[in-house]
Amino acid sequence: MFSLRRGLPALLLGMTVLVSALGAAPAQAAVQLAPVVSSDKKTKPPTTDELTKDPASLLVLVSRTNPLKPENYLPKDLRTVAGSGDQLRNGAATALEDLLKAGRKDGHSLTMLSAYRSFERQKSLFNQYKARYGLDYATRISAPAGTSEHQLGLSADLGLANSSCDLKACFGETAGGKWLAENAQRFGFIIRYPADGEKTTGYKYEPWHLRYIGVEHAQAMKSSQAKTFEDYHAALVKASKIKPLTEAQIKEQRESLMVLRFLPPYRDWSVGYDFAR
Ligand SMILES: [Zn+2]
Repeated sequence: MFSLRRGLPALLLGMTVLVSALGAAPAQAAVQLAPVVSSDKKTKPPTTDELTKDPASLLVLVSRTNPLKPENYLPKDLRTVAGSGDQLRNGAATALEDLLKAGRKDGHSLTMLSAYRSFERQKSLFNQYKARYGLDYATRISAPAGTSEHQLGLSADLGLANSSCDLKACFGETAGGKWLAENAQRFGFIIRYPADGEKTTGYKYEPWHLRYIGVEHAQAMKSSQAKTFEDYHAALVKASKIKPLTEAQIKEQRESLMVLRFLPPYRDWSVGYDFAR
């Protein structure tokens, strides 16, 4: 009874603070609630197989050292992105349409230069680069067929309406390029080949190349320390290998928490609790 009597005013005080905070500053309360709302919508963490074996997963890693399996993979849900002649998978297409709309609203006329490319198309493109620049340079700027993200239907190259800096590093210095780097994650995209990432990604800086991984992961990657998708992907794979607790382990934890509830309050322990009293 003693602790209840002491606890009650504190509880009431807490409620008063909460209620007055909600009444006085609704805008602030809404901001604080936002993460709670989004965490309710969280999708299940990806499994190791989804991350490493499923070419249709939004989180699949494709690079020169991680070729597509099968190499001639064809996405099932491709559709034309509104206002362009290019295709993306349905979810990525909708996200890109939203991104382009938001960019225009903020005064940046970004346009799509390239999106889905089939295995065959990539093959002829790479051979053209190879003939023009030789194998070494062609490999730095283009992907051999079966190793291009464009084959996933989740990647798009964007440029400016005036075509200045198309497919050049200077795109990242333009107002539109900066807006893209700032806002892409809001729509589920990442800048897949960042500056100084060549050692990890195998590609030079490509501020124009977007990859769709979904809003939840794009935002998580942006706020994480991961510099490249390779780093973020490796962290997800590592996490996917940690075995979740079994039902029995969860029950055991719950039971030990129940025991804690019936122990005398901590402050009494600190001054020596007299069990015989
Ligand atoms: Zn690209």
